Amino acid sequence: MSAPAPVLPDSPQEPAKQWERRTSRDRSQALRRTVQFAFLALNIWIGVEFYYFVRQFESGGAVFNVSRPPGVEGWLPIAGMMNTKFFLLTGQVPKVHPATMVLFIAFLLSSFVFRKAFCGWLCPVGTLSEYLWKFGRGTFRRVFFLPRWLDIGLRSLKYVLMGLFAYAVASMPPVAISEFLESPYGLVADVKMLDFFRYMGVGAAITIGILAIASIFVQNFWCRYLCPYGALQGLAALLSPLRITRVPDACIDCAKCAKACPSRLPVDVLVQIRSAECLGCMECVAVCPAEGALDMAVSRRWKVRPWVMAAGVVAIFVGIVAVARITGHWHSPIPNELYQELIPRVHEFSHP
Ligand code: SF4
Ligand code: SF4
Repeated sequence: MSAPAPVLPDSPQEPAKQWERRTSRDRSQALRRTVQFAFLALNIWIGVEFYYFVRQFESGGAVFNVSRPPGVEGWLPIAGMMNTKFFLLTGQVPKVHPATMVLFIAFLLSSFVFRKAFCGWLCPVGTLSEYLWKFGRGTFRRVFFLPRWLDIGLRSLKYVLMGLFAYAVASMPPVAISEFLESPYGLVADVKMLDFFRYMGVGAAITIGILAIASIFVQNFWCRYLCPYGALQGLAALLSPLRITRVPDACIDCAKCAKACPSRLPVDVLVQIRSAECLGCMECVAVCPAEGALDMAVSRRWKVRPWVMAAGVVAIFVGIVAVARITGHWHSPIPNELYQELIPRVHEFSHP
């Protein structure tokens, strides 16, 4: 049953607008938090398992009872781009690190279908980044905004970085990609990445510390300005059929949506949000008080409920990984004997 229709204060020029207060409970943020923390927990579990996988080779043991979690390859997005290019040009699923390609496609597809949902719903770095600024807002009772000229300049940085990576991958023919990924460096690229975090240099630690502090004060500092993977997801989202859609007749111009938007998009004045910066987070929808004024939607009539977003994002991820597992394109066929040879010497291999 709907609540009595409140009436906005009259102005001399305009008649009061009748509107209906939203009575249905919004569950978008509870659902999003559940998906975010489940994915964060999955990544922590993968990281711990991979650590023990690597340790068993470093400690020189003869018993290998920890298997390598292929999901770790989600942290090799450049290899994912390379393998996807290899697959598109040759029609063959790459032998080494096929999971990079599987996850790269799954994340890109989720952003295409569900409006950059990788950043807003799945990415563990995005989740940490979001809770850092929420912590900052809770502690200091405000968030800080960079001046517009600096904000626009910095926002383009992530596209420049993405362009550099895309150029590097585009300039590699398929044979160079397989040579690179089958080289000792390519085979243990995931171990190299683990070592970056395990034996972090002072420079890298200071840089990460600065980014973390900046993220406390400025909303999504890393994601908004620097993340090349997020930039790519944003380009995929530009083609998405889904958009935050505002119905001006139902909207009461309270501007709560714009205030809540972590990407600082002018949700309260646009009819549709087409920006590559929209994370599909639905924070704007969650705070909107007017029934039917704001929704994630394909069109004015075809709205997408929060549970559909959550189920869809999870279904794309689980479905694509399941297909890869069933068809045998999930695990890298690198034998333990080769890992035993390469992992203790991993510091000898540098980028070709
Ligand atoms: S417009 Fe809405 S869905 Fe998009 S980033 Fe802003 S709050 Fe999130
Ligand atoms: S939250 Fe935004 S869309 Fe909803 S009524 Fe207020 S201005 Fe309109």
